[in-house]
Parts: sequence; structure tokens; C-alpha cells
Amino acid sequence: MTNEKIITVEHLEKTFGDHRVLKDINLEVNHGEVLSIIGASGSGKSTLLRCINLLEHPTNGDIKFHQQSILTSDFDLTDYQAKVGMVFQSFNLFNNLNVLENCMIGQTTVLKRDPAQAKKVALEQLDKVAMSPYVNAKPAQLSGGQKQRVGIARAVSMNPEVLLFDEPTSALDPEMVDDVLDSMRALAHTGLTMILVTHEMAFARDISDHVVFMDQGVIAEEGSAEAIFTNPQKERTQTFLKRYL
Ligand code: ADP
Ligand code: MG
Repeated sequence: MTNEKIITVEHLEKTFGDHRVLKDINLEVNHGEVLSIIGASGSGKSTLLRCINLLEHPTNGDIKFHQQSILTSDFDLTDYQAKVGMVFQSFNLFNNLNVLENCMIGQTTVLKRDPAQAKKVALEQLDKVAMSPYVNAKPAQLSGGQKQRVGIARAVSMNPEVLLFDEPTSALDPEMVDDVLDSMRALAHTGLTMILVTHEMAFARDISDHVVFMDQGVIAEEGSAEAIFTNPQKERTQTFLKRYL
């Protein structure tokens, strides 16, 4: 991890109608850092990730990528979304494409890589998540865990600078979870910058450099994994974590 800031969130607010879902969120993510966001359902975790990759537009505040606001009118959104990838709880694979094609399509359309190069990259990444035997399979033929490993390979094939994960194992049967977590752990060890929303507390504790606990749209507490999981200061954090111990 270096001190080079990749993502900076400043006084971020997001309102849906009259519901203030995010209130004065401030965050910094350094190059190579793994940041985990924990908190109860409805606390605003997904909305925060979706604002960071601009699937949602913030109501107020700023988000910076390498110190430059991503909210200016001349900002190159396509380029940004290629550099800040996302792995979704519900996989979001293209069901009409096979595994290999799913991992190539973003490379050829967004990055304009030639198909041979895209295929090479896709096969490398599918190998890393142990999905090489399934390159010709359609998503419907895969288990949830296999789909998510394809989702990870697809995201990494784009060579992102930052990868966002929104509860990547929440839709999986318990026996599928470890393979996906292993793939994510391997990625973290490559030095990739990651922002992870998860309820897998042991995993978050193990891989995170920094942990943010969200409660009702605010960051209620944050600190090192050690500080948050072994010595949380706020009662809300303690109450939340008790449910997972
Ligand atoms: P979490 O991921 O922590 O469960 P979310 O960010 O999904 O929380 O949601 C936070 C709150 O924002 C919830 O009350 C949710 O109903 C509301 N919300 C999220 N997205 C929308 C939307 N598109 N329109 C209206 N309300 C939304
Ligand atoms: Mg969510």
C-alpha cells in the first residue's frame, strides 16, 4: 500500500425523494488498500458503492479519482467505469454469452482490445479463479459460486485500478463461499485496490487495511481491522458485531 490516494469521497450526500440515504460521508482509499464497509441492511452501503462508480449520481459533495473530481461535466465516464470495476451480489453476467465471451466483451467494446488479446487475458483470469474448464458454458449451467468467480475474472480482465465488491458472496450457498473468498484474497495479495461491502466478518478482518462501519447513512465508526473487530468504541458498532460473533 502506498500513500497515493486513488478514491477520495468528500461530504457525500445522496437523497432519494426526501430520504437522506448518505449523510456527509468522507473516505480516502490509497493505492493497494483493501477497505471493507460493514453495516446493517439499509444503512447505505450499496448506495455508497454505486455513487463511487457513478451508477448513482450524488446529491451533494464530491468524489475524486486521483485527486480529480469525477462529477465535472467533461469527465470521461466510460473510461472511469473501466478503471473502477464492480462485482455484484447477483453476478450480472450476460446469460446469452458463454463464460469466455462474458470475460471478453468489455475488453473488446470498451477497451477496444483486439479479440485475440482479449481472449488471452480472459483465459488467464479464468485460470486464476479455476474456471478454465468452463469457458464454453453458459451462466445457467454454473453454480452461484462459479458464476461469481466468472464475475471476478470478467472484472479483473478489464485491468481495473480499483475493484468494488457489493456483497459478492451473499447470494451463494454456504459451501460456495470459500472459493469466492479465496479468489478475492488472491486478488488482494496482488496489490489491487479493493472496496468491499461484506457480511463475512472473519474475511473482512483478515484482508482489510481499513474498516468502515455504516449506520443509517453515516460512518458511525472506522479504523483498522484490528481496532474495529477487537476493540470497537461505539455502542452501535458493538451491538452490530455481536450478531456476527
Ligand atoms: P445497504 O446496501 O446498506 O443495504 P442501500 O444503499 O441498498 O443499503 O439502501 C439504503 C437505503 O436507500 C434503503 O432505505 C433503500 O431503500 C434506499 N434506496 C436505495 N436505492 C434506492 C433507490 N433507487 N430509490 C429509492 N430508495 C433507495
Ligand atoms: Mg446493499
